[in-house]
Amino acid sequence: MPAQRAVEGDGFVVHRPFPVPGTEQVDPFLLLDQMGPVDHGPGEAVGTPVHPHRGFETVTYLLEGELQHRDSLGNEGTLGPGDTQWMTAGRGVLHEEGPTSGFLARGGRLHGLQLWVNLPASAKMIPPAYQDITADAVAVSHPSPGATVRVVAGEAFDLVGPGSTHTPITYTHVTLEPGAQVASAFDPNHTVLVFPLLGVVAVGDEVLATAELGVLGPGDAVELSVPADAASPSEILVLSGRPIGEPIARHGPFVMNTREELVQAFADVRSPEFGS
Ligand code: MN
Repeated sequence: MPAQRAVEGDGFVVHRPFPVPGTEQVDPFLLLDQMGPVDHGPGEAVGTPVHPHRGFETVTYLLEGELQHRDSLGNEGTLGPGDTQWMTAGRGVLHEEGPTSGFLARGGRLHGLQLWVNLPASAKMIPPAYQDITADAVAVSHPSPGATVRVVAGEAFDLVGPGSTHTPITYTHVTLEPGAQVASAFDPNHTVLVFPLLGVVAVGDEVLATAELGVLGPGDAVELSVPADAASPSEILVLSGRPIGEPIARHGPFVMNTREELVQAFADVRSPEFGS
């Protein structure tokens, strides 16, 4: 699936393989946005003003740049390269995300990802929660020459990531030099996604271009490689997750199971439950 260009928040461009017309989700994942890589001049970086969420989790991972986050639970954090912010919206939270004042003033390169992970019906209304996962907490290894693997959540590439997830998923950032290869076992019941953020990657015999999402077929292992004649190292996101298999009703920042629950979310957003 090729990524489509979309404009988010106060006007930043993202590459979005899904959701797009015809593909509402890749169960259990609801949205994948690649922010940048983009070079901002001083004063140019923009963010997303205060907005609500209900019914899922947002996972933000940064490769370059500096973002800050604030939410109605009182959580506040700064995100640098390799850091992850994991927000479980559950029954409802308000948050804002954007460049730090320092990054805004200096400018520089921004490159990051936001993933939405669905919650099952039984967990959509759980209390909201927040995890700050710093780069030094991520599980890192060099399993083969020219390969670096960083596991943020779940068990993959013989590592266990620190992220705590309601819906079983794995979240891995793989860096491969030209000619490098790496492999991992995956739960055959998981949906597995491979997304080259920079450069190209071969999954078995199939080569994915930059920002082209691979949704893998049935199997229990993934083999990734970068052609020896590639011009530069490749940065690759590898996700897996156990499908939830429930109907979804989504609009804007809310993802529920039924239209009635969606209408209720729009009514509740003005209530104190979402905080301020
Ligand atoms: Mn958000």
